[in-house]
Amino acid sequence: MPGTMRAMRLHRHGLLSRDFQGLQLETIAIPEPAQGEVLIKIAFCGICHTEIDEIENRAPPSSLPMTLGHQVVGTVVAQGAGCRLEMLGKTVGVAWIFSACGKCKQCLQGLENLCGDFLASGRDRPGGYAEYMTAAEAFIHEIPPTMPAVQAAPLLCAGAVGYRALRLSGLQTGESLGLTGFGSSGRLVLQMSRFLFPDSPLYVFARSAQERDLALELGAQWAGDTREQPPCPLNAVIDTTPVWLPVLSALAVLAPGGRLIINAIGKESGDQNLLTSLDYARHLWREKSIKTVANVTRADVRSLLALASRIPLAPKIVEYRLDQALEGLLAIKSGNITGAGVLRLDTVQISPRRANSTM
Ligand SMILES: [Zn+2]
Ligand SMILES: [Zn+2]
Repeated sequence: MPGTMRAMRLHRHGLLSRDFQGLQLETIAIPEPAQGEVLIKIAFCGICHTEIDEIENRAPPSSLPMTLGHQVVGTVVAQGAGCRLEMLGKTVGVAWIFSACGKCKQCLQGLENLCGDFLASGRDRPGGYAEYMTAAEAFIHEIPPTMPAVQAAPLLCAGAVGYRALRLSGLQTGESLGLTGFGSSGRLVLQMSRFLFPDSPLYVFARSAQERDLALELGAQWAGDTREQPPCPLNAVIDTTPVWLPVLSALAVLAPGGRLIINAIGKESGDQNLLTSLDYARHLWREKSIKTVANVTRADVRSLLALASRIPLAPKIVEYRLDQALEGLLAIKSGNITGAGVLRLDTVQISPRRANSTM
C-alpha cells in the first residue's frame, strides 16, 4: 500500500475565525505521480491571502475537500512515466499556475495566465498544505541554488504576482509609484522597484503605523494612511488590498495618464458601497486606467526567481507548523503579521496511522 502523509484540507466554506472547523489536519495517501508529473516532498509552503478567499468562498476550490497552498518548495522524490527532465533530487517550487492547456490563443500568446483551462495549485488540484504533492514536470520551477528554500516560498506567489503587477503598471524610470497595502507582496514589489527603477520615488499607503515605518525603512519616499494625500500625483499605483477604499483613494491621487493595477483575486463586499461616490472627473478622467492582475505565467515565476537572486530578495519569514495553519491564516487576515507566513512541513511527525481516505 502507498505511504501516508499529513495534509491540511478544506472541507467546507465559512468565515475564517478562530472557531472555523472547515480546515482539518488529516492522514491521507501520498499521491502517485501521473504521466508527466513528479512527486515533491514538501519542505515549505507559503500562506497566502488567496487561501482566505478560497475558504470564504470568493475563489472557491473546484472540489472539496481540497488541500490548499500554492507557494510550495520541496524536493523531487519520484517521477511519473514520460518525464523528460532530470529533476530527481532537485529543489523546486510550485506556484499558483498548476497547469494551462498550452494550445489555446491565450497560451500561444504567452498569456497562459488567462487560459480558459487554467488550473490553480491548491484550488483546482491539491497543493502544499501537505507533506507531499504531485505537479506537472513542465510547471515546476527550479529554485536558484543560492536562495534559501524557506525564502523562496513567498516569492512563488507574492513575489511572482507582484512582479507581474509591476510589469503591467508600465512604470518607466523616474515615474512615481504608489503601493497601497503593504503585506508580503507590497514589500517585495517595493524592493523590486528600488532595484529595477532606482530613480522612481515610492509612496506607500498602509493601515498600520508598523507597516508605514517598515516602508520608510525599506526606502519609500513617503508613507501614509490609505486616505492620506501623497505630496505629488502618482504615475502608477499597485493595490494589493482586499477592499475598495484603496481603489478610490488611489484613483484620486493618480496623475493624468496614471495606471491603477489591482492585484487581488477578489474584493470583499464590506465597503463596496463606497463605489457610489466614484466621481468621473476626480477618479477617472484624464486617461487614467485600471487593470487587474489575474494569475501568473511560468515566465513571471521564473523571471521573478532570477531577479530575486540578483537583488537579492530576502523576505522576512514567520514560520508556522502545518497544524498551526489556521493561526497563520488568522494573522494574515488581521494584518497582524510582520513577515510572510510560511508553513514548515519537515517538523510534522509522520503518523503511524493507516490512511483513512484516498485522494
Ligand atoms: Zn498567493
Ligand atoms: Zn490555454
